Amino acid sequence: MKTVTLYNKTFGLYLSAEQIQQAVDEVAAKLNRDYVDKQPLIISILNGSFIFTADLMRRLDFTCYLSFMKLASYRGLESSGQLKMLVGLNENVKGRDVIIVEDIVDSGLTMQHIVEQVNALEPASIRIVTFIHKPEATKVDIKLDYIGIEVPNDFIVGYGLDYDGLGRQYSDIYKLVTD
Ligand code: 5GP
Ligand code: MG
Repeated sequence: MKTVTLYNKTFGLYLSAEQIQQAVDEVAAKLNRDYVDKQPLIISILNGSFIFTADLMRRLDFTCYLSFMKLASYRGLESSGQLKMLVGLNENVKGRDVIIVEDIVDSGLTMQHIVEQVNALEPASIRIVTFIHKPEATKVDIKLDYIGIEVPNDFIVGYGLDYDGLGRQYSDIYKLVTD
């Protein structure tokens, strides 16, 4: 099996570049069907979704804008723990058709934060694209409009996804080898 090692952990090939590119094709085809004659604002969530966003955008037939956002985690004053703030969005969102592009939805909490904050900016519409979804892990009630690939609850790296900062550059996706 093709493997990669990041720090002291071994990851085995899980989704090939061909499977990934096929899934990107399918998401792009759905967007091309749904956004004919529209000119949406794509909001790509950094860091993880940069590769997926680049692959996806080059397949889009409609014209579109692109902006990036990043979630900054910090300790809030309350004991409840981490809050996440969106930084970097300097586009005017009001009245625009927004497409949020994420690499992975796991518990869904991150996406819930993002949607709440983008919704507060009063877009005309908002739809969510996630390349990877872990349905068994998702705890929040959130509509994922476009999903590339559904996976079980395993930790994966590659195609933008990292393990402690490493592994984003792979064209394939690898899964942690547990023994
Ligand atoms: P959430 O649980 O809020 O849906 O996901 C939070 C974040 O956890 C994601 O944006 C992603 O950065 C990270 N994450 C969740 N599952 C995985 C995984 O399998 N691999 C990697 N590399 N990151 C993950
Ligand atoms: Mg992410």
